[in-house]
Amino acid sequence: MNIVLFGPPGCGKGTQAKRLSAARGWPQLSTGDMLRAAQASGSELGRRVKAVMDRGDLVSDAIVIELIEERLPEAEAAGGAIFDGFPRTVAQAGALDALLAGRGAQVDAVIRLTVDNEELVRRMMKRAAEEGRADDTEEAFRTRLKVYEAQTAPLIPYYQAQGKVKNVDGMGSMETVSAAIAAVLD
Ligand code: AMP
Repeated sequence: MNIVLFGPPGCGKGTQAKRLSAARGWPQLSTGDMLRAAQASGSELGRRVKAVMDRGDLVSDAIVIELIEERLPEAEAAGGAIFDGFPRTVAQAGALDALLAGRGAQVDAVIRLTVDNEELVRRMMKRAAEEGRADDTEEAFRTRLKVYEAQTAPLIPYYQAQGKVKNVDGMGSMETVSAAIAAVLD
């Protein structure tokens, strides 16, 4: 199964994607993790995206689509994937649909985690203390929320039109949210 884990920054997508990947054996394809790995390795791509990521804006569609495309054979071999932080624009969603269709596959479900804004800020501050991500400053986080509303939230009607959106309350504990995700998938 190909599953998109969807929601605003700080909603717990990454944590839930890891847990779901471990439970089902489908790789977690996180474009944020791939881009951070590119930065850590000191590659040209990493240097190119650093400023954009640090301020909380989106890197270009072409870059992330290519990163995802490279990983699709691995997903196909595993019988599916958990897309985490991708797609983030309607153009990316269209590209993903086309890439999967070319492999006789599709996005099977979009798990949308809903978390209120106050809780998002609280989780961001906790992560900032724990991981020290460059884009977990208050200013960058505010930009990421705005970018989410403007560019990523339009994916909700995009996937609703395909009948794929499953809303999951993301406000509970990690375990409660994982159980709710498992329940909508089974
Ligand atoms: P994340 O780890 O998913 O919160 O992503 C961290 C940052 O990486 C984002 O704020 C963007 O700058 C960049 N990024 C990750 N995924 C994408 C994507 N699908 N499209 C554009 N930029 C992305």
